[in-house]
Amino acid sequence: MDEYSRVASLRLDHADPLAHFRDRFHFADADTLYLDGNSLGRMPARTPEFLAEVLTAGWGAGLVRSWTEWIDWGRRLGDLLAEHVLGARSGEVVLADSTSVNLYKLAAAALDAVPQRRTIVFDPADFPTNRYVLQGLASDRGLRTRPVHSDPVHGVDPAALAEVLDTDVALVVLSLVSYGSGALLDQAAVQEAADRYGALVLWDLSHAAGAVPVRLRASGSQLAVGCTYKYLNGGPGAPAFLYVREDLQTSLRQPIWGWFGQRDQFLMGSDYQPVDGIERFLVGTPPVLSLAALRPAVELFAEAGVDALRDKGIRLTELVIALADEWLAEFGVTVASPRDPARRGGHVSLHSPVAWQLCQALMQHGIICDYRDPGRLRIAPVPLYTRFTDVWDALSDLRSILADREYERFPSELSRVT
Ligand SMILES: *Cc1c(COP(=O)(O)O)cnc(C)c1O
Repeated sequence: MDEYSRVASLRLDHADPLAHFRDRFHFADADTLYLDGNSLGRMPARTPEFLAEVLTAGWGAGLVRSWTEWIDWGRRLGDLLAEHVLGARSGEVVLADSTSVNLYKLAAAALDAVPQRRTIVFDPADFPTNRYVLQGLASDRGLRTRPVHSDPVHGVDPAALAEVLDTDVALVVLSLVSYGSGALLDQAAVQEAADRYGALVLWDLSHAAGAVPVRLRASGSQLAVGCTYKYLNGGPGAPAFLYVREDLQTSLRQPIWGWFGQRDQFLMGSDYQPVDGIERFLVGTPPVLSLAALRPAVELFAEAGVDALRDKGIRLTELVIALADEWLAEFGVTVASPRDPARRGGHVSLHSPVAWQLCQALMQHGIICDYRDPGRLRIAPVPLYTRFTDVWDALSDLRSILADREYERFPSELSRVT
């Protein structure tokens, strides 16, 4: 049988042991083909019902009394994520704030822990907010930022990192999976390189959590942050997570001294005395409704298992690449993600000078993916709810959009949100 035929993809769907998880998600219409779960994950079917319960029983009936239950949701969800998604231990992960804010808190805590070191190593191709947060910290404290060489497709190599490390480096900040190319770094090798110089590593797991099995403990990782609205399906603006390895927690102090990090919070003590545990990295009142929305989503990961999801994820992205090579290369479309599945996260980036126009044309076909400068179309076939035939249908439409030059009807200027 022709491996590029739709029948071949249908067979893969029939043999897919995770296929039934698709029914656990909300589909407003059968026609929209969604390949943008790395930007905003789909809504689990149970989320509206669960939220309604929290609203009516929790807020509506329980009123302020419900805080006895809500107060540790950030911690309890953190434990679930630690166990089922992040490869960490109970008490090492908590949900709070946004990824940008958590990155600021943990980076500041790390820098303050080694004031004699004056350099922050960063990836110039990292997600912009990470670069801005680090620029701000460096500017406040008179520190240097030092870029590491980052390949546009393969990201940061541990050997390239070793070249920019020395004993002046306080902190290295890297994304485990690159938002641009989808490159997946070698977490243990990076950590090992940094350990040789006594530099701390702060991982951004925004594009990794829920897409690849993250092994924070096994890789010796010290610090991490990440968001929950992408692969983790927590909903728009869902609170982010932060991880601090247990043995480091008491020696790190975050810069925002809020009452949710305070020992005996409700004694309203006069001076700040942070708790010993992971909660010392909290600041203020958590967004309870957004935390609630995360609960049904995390349960799906516990049920499906990240290793099984990864296995399907690899096969889905392999199909994207095979079809792109077979159908799209003749139109100047190239694969801008690592071809080695062990070095690739959950999405594939396709490069084309007209990628933004292609993205708009696909949208017209009911196929949602996204565009990232420069010239990259990101395709994320999320294993919990994407079928092999979805990949086939999307790439097949993309082929005809290119062959018929349909994309020329769309503007090449970028819009406010891409
Ligand atoms: C999506 C993403 C963020 C998002 O940060 P917010 O504070 O939630 O806006 C941060 N870092 C990386 C690497 C991301 O991919």
